[in-house]
Amino acid sequence: MKIIRLGLALALAITVAACQKKAEPGNVDGARIAAADSNAEWLSYGKGYSEQRFSPLDKVNAGNVGELGLAWYAQFDTDRGQEATPIEVDGVIYTTTAWSKVFAFDAVTGKQLWAYDPKVEGSKGFDACCDVVNRGVAVWKGKVYVGVLDGRLVALDAKTGQPVWTAQTTDPKKPYTITGAPRVIKDKVLIGNGGAEYGVRGYITAYDAATGKQAWRFFMTPNPEGKPDGAASDKVMAEKAAATWSDGEWKQTGGGGTPWDAIAYDPDLDIVYIGVGNGTPWNHVKRSGGKGDNLFLSSILALKPETGEYVWHYQTTPGESWDYTATQQIILADLKIDGQDRKVLMQAPKNGFFYVLDRATGALISAKPYVDSITWATGVDMKTGRPIETPGARYEKAAVMQVPGPLGAHNWQPMAFDPKTGLVYIPTNVTPFAYTDDKGRGYKEGAWNVGVDFLANALPTDEATLKAVQALVKGQLVAWDPIQQKPVWKVDHPYFWNAGVLATAGGLVFQGTAEGDLGAYDATSGKKLWSYKTGNGVIAAPMTYELDGQQYVAVMVGVGGGGQISAPASMPTRPRLPGRLLVFKLGGKATAPAFDAPAPPPFEVAGLSSTGDAQHGFALFHQNCQVCHGPNASGAWLPDLKRSPMLQTADNWKGVVIDGASASRGMASFSRFLSPQDAEDIRAYVITEAKKAAAGQTSTGTPIGMN
Ligand code: CA
Repeated sequence: MKIIRLGLALALAITVAACQKKAEPGNVDGARIAAADSNAEWLSYGKGYSEQRFSPLDKVNAGNVGELGLAWYAQFDTDRGQEATPIEVDGVIYTTTAWSKVFAFDAVTGKQLWAYDPKVEGSKGFDACCDVVNRGVAVWKGKVYVGVLDGRLVALDAKTGQPVWTAQTTDPKKPYTITGAPRVIKDKVLIGNGGAEYGVRGYITAYDAATGKQAWRFFMTPNPEGKPDGAASDKVMAEKAAATWSDGEWKQTGGGGTPWDAIAYDPDLDIVYIGVGNGTPWNHVKRSGGKGDNLFLSSILALKPETGEYVWHYQTTPGESWDYTATQQIILADLKIDGQDRKVLMQAPKNGFFYVLDRATGALISAKPYVDSITWATGVDMKTGRPIETPGARYEKAAVMQVPGPLGAHNWQPMAFDPKTGLVYIPTNVTPFAYTDDKGRGYKEGAWNVGVDFLANALPTDEATLKAVQALVKGQLVAWDPIQQKPVWKVDHPYFWNAGVLATAGGLVFQGTAEGDLGAYDATSGKKLWSYKTGNGVIAAPMTYELDGQQYVAVMVGVGGGGQISAPASMPTRPRLPGRLLVFKLGGKATAPAFDAPAPPPFEVAGLSSTGDAQHGFALFHQNCQVCHGPNASGAWLPDLKRSPMLQTADNWKGVVIDGASASRGMASFSRFLSPQDAEDIRAYVITEAKKAAAGQTSTGTPIGMN
């Protein structure tokens, strides 16, 4: 009787589930996301709340991955960076593209169900340090949530894509951005922000998932006016954080500390973990007189999700001075360490150390360098939990060439933890950067305010030095044993700034490359078992799902993001190409057409001349333009200015740089920071680079892209 009753209940449950599947798109709640930590569903940015990015699906495995082929693809209307991880709910894929656009597809057929364009002002692209990217949505109880580049949080009807509510989460007059995926915990949507290269005060906010009403906010830096904010952070700011700040530019900039990516949640402990970003300016001397740890910059912060109440923090880089964010993905796992079962939190932040913490208390369990060439610190003191810094690393008296640079030894590209192999698969970078105090340059509202002179990062002009610098730049996939704190295997990629990672119970690790290959590697040996040429660079992490007994692997394709910084011309050059979503299955026979990639136009240099001061332009270019357009106007991703038609006449150039003629495409006016004469001096400099390139003296970049 009992068995029959159980069987009946089960059948009923399945029927109900099946009915709900059809009736209510986006039917996700906390129990379902928590279950996705150990089942095959992919319901949140990092799969489940623990953000492990490991799927128990094994139909695609080391034995048959060679048969993996394209099932379907979709092409998007933007050629900027694609960083999203799609999520799949009951047969529907929800994903985002650059410019915060949202798309829903039938996960089996690829049919587009709806699309939503928040219509971000193109000029907002100026406020995005690292491209107009977006990393994905959250889904909860029939709604899809997207954080928009201009600071809006929008709830969409999961069935139609129509907006239900919108909250402006930031002051639109300030250079805040949102690129990260929201997460939903206990009917609250959590969203952070970015903008710490410019000058904002970071915070995370929780909104009621049904109505969009603000529930709580937690600031990452003290109020510069020394008063309480009426926020969840007030108590701990007064008790712990305020005393760690001294006089400096943070009072103008807000101090930074933007939590722009990592959010993980432990439902048992009922703690949410937030990764906090770098300071504004980066330069600790300018920011805070070189004094104090500056909490909660570059920290992992544990909060209660219902109230935002502080639980504990761990600061990875006290007194951060290098853009060493701790926003990198946080993974929660249970590990046996020294014979004891430990509930741990793992992070590989930009600073190059792999941290294993007790996630109940924040106590440091271990920390070791996960790349082999860290120069800023020799280790982490296990008594104090603080890095042991190398003398001179703070560039107070002299410039220092250092690894990692602001790009980090690991950036936003997600890593994955495979509980079967016990390994964490980390996409790593080695990128040197010259840190130099920018001495005379004070705070400029709305501009980059990092307190570091980017002029020092112009490319060396002699070929031998350039080759030596390029030889240092490296991108790897590292399989890391978090218990022993050592690498088990490494794969070298041809370039740096490669893609995020997916691990599966099929014994596979999937990762794309900047060059454009999507690869599957043996999880225990790193042997490459399969690859697919996407025709475009890949930076986003793949994900996997199963429908009707068929396993699929999906990935967003399209290069971009912040890799220009400390990227001394070690990038594959190709025209900018529209983003795509590629979905694979065993025996998939679909083909995606080759990209229609126009050949770069020839350099038209014959008639080019300028009365500007090219030497002054060289300095201005590297202080104002190189983050997007590449050191020495190398232009790997954003328009190669050497080929720009705008270069042809002084009037056209001024029209864009000073008058904002291309603002709708993301190139805002620089009239706040540059005079018309400055603009012409920059043009004079870019002309010298164009002439060198035309004469075959430098590598070529890419033509003007679409959007
Ligand atoms: Ca930063």
